[in-house]
Amino acid sequence: MTDVTGMTEPDAHGTRPGAAASAARPADYLAAVAALQRAYAAIPPGSPVRLAKRTSNLFRFREAAPSARLRPGGTTGPNPPGQLDVSAFDHVLCVDPGSRTALVGGMTTYEDLADATLRHGLMPLVVPQLKTITLGGAVTGLGIESSSLRSGMPHESVTEMEILTGDGRVVRASDANEHAALYRGFPNSYGTLGYALALTIELEPVSPFVHLRHFRFDRPEACMEAVAQIARDGSLGGHRADFVDGTAFSLDEMYLTLGAFSDVAPWLSDYTRERIYYQSIRGPKEDFLTIRDYLWRWDTDWFWCSRPFGVQNPVIRRAWPRRYRRSDTYRKLVAFDRRHHLSAAVNARRGRPANEDVIQDVEIPVGRGAEFLRFFADRVGMSPVWMCPLRLRGERTWPLYPLRPGQVYVNFGFWGTVARPAGAADGYYNRQIEDEVTALGGRKGLYSTSFYPESEFWALYNGSEYAALKRDYDPEGRLAGLYEKCVRGK
Ligand SMILES: Cc1cc2nc3c(=O)[nH]c(=O)nc-3n(C[C@H](O)[C@H](O)[C@H](O)COP(=O)(O)OP(=O)(O)OC[C@H]3O[C@@H](n4cnc5c(N)ncnc54)[C@H](O)[C@@H]3O)c2cc1C
Repeated sequence: MTDVTGMTEPDAHGTRPGAAASAARPADYLAAVAALQRAYAAIPPGSPVRLAKRTSNLFRFREAAPSARLRPGGTTGPNPPGQLDVSAFDHVLCVDPGSRTALVGGMTTYEDLADATLRHGLMPLVVPQLKTITLGGAVTGLGIESSSLRSGMPHESVTEMEILTGDGRVVRASDANEHAALYRGFPNSYGTLGYALALTIELEPVSPFVHLRHFRFDRPEACMEAVAQIARDGSLGGHRADFVDGTAFSLDEMYLTLGAFSDVAPWLSDYTRERIYYQSIRGPKEDFLTIRDYLWRWDTDWFWCSRPFGVQNPVIRRAWPRRYRRSDTYRKLVAFDRRHHLSAAVNARRGRPANEDVIQDVEIPVGRGAEFLRFFADRVGMSPVWMCPLRLRGERTWPLYPLRPGQVYVNFGFWGTVARPAGAADGYYNRQIEDEVTALGGRKGLYSTSFYPESEFWALYNGSEYAALKRDYDPEGRLAGLYEKCVRGK
């Protein structure tokens, strides 16, 4: 049945199968856009603007971080001044199995998005590993997952975005209209040009299960050669690579995990209970997960970062309610700690050196990946390290995060703290990593702390293109600039 907006009735799950994903927006959506525009216009010029979101996966903590005090819509009390209630944009508007597309609110979490599409036997082409990463966050802040060698990054399967721009307009940007420059410059703009309210994305069919095989390597060079081979052949040792990522426990113990869609599963593992996914990689070489459990395999233990909370201790794990074994719970605990300087105070009292957060994802061309791993083990020494190969899906480049089409990169992710040598300033490790990434022809994501001098930053992240976009979509600078936000932490 079709309603006045041209969309079909929602099914029992609230999604609208059969609707053309980029069709007319429903009336409640249009009303929410108008209300948001009014709220934005009412913020006094010069006041900082922020999204009132319930969740975040940023790792730049401010003093008294605003996210801790947010009162997003649906809770009591108005949002603090300058904070935009975007709760109306937190759900899937329509899934169209026919065209394999979906129209999705910009603040929709991937958990909700994946649930809505899996009901139709479909998934977004790339589903970042943490459940509360939102589609808008992954597109403006970049995302990656084990399908990225096949399907690139999340923004590459966005066909259209409706954006509230810094100058208060709401525009639809696609690669082929008058806002194509904004469409291409939105990835890696981190909400400094505008906020994505609704996005049309492509979907792909899934099988019910994923068949995993873990391949072990005892040298970084051999591991990186295997990545290059998988990129060429689409498989390794006869196992198809619908998905591929890896875990380096040390330079002589590294694993690549290949996942192949499967219609059958002789057994199924479940890592949301006693067993822990990252530890399983060192165990039997073969495994089976449902597609949903595969997508969230890393979320339950925030990769391995749940360890400091004791959740990997079997006794505490049993007592820790299952519904709180999630990345967003752990992140809230870390945010609380950082806001109140708890672990820093304990360290200081015990006379230990200050710790530096070394929380980064970097992309390195596969041919230089082994060098990076050796540098990292020598200078930083943190483990495990997550490894995720990627290649741009198309020929198009994305100006604010320039990667070379056709080039295979490996994303290395490391998330922890390292004791600084006496007298070393904050940024001691991060700055070395930034230099090494540049020297190896790589690129660093900006969701965490960065220490680049301003001229170097703009040389790396295309300052001239960014300045043109800022002039066209936020000429009065109502939204913070990219350097201020990502390096100076505004
Ligand atoms: C430990 C850790 C591991 C990570 N691992 C991965 C990973 O494996 N794969 C991966 O893909 N990513 C990973 N990330 C990065 C994550 O995808 C980015 O931080 C992403 O931007 C978070 O999205 P969010 O929805 O939580 O946005 P938020 O954290 O709420 O916001 C991030 C930024 O995006 C802006 N923003 C948010 N929504 C919108 C919108 N709709 N329009 C415009 N701007 C918006 C905000 O203003 C802010 O500047 C990781 C991050 C951490 C901390």
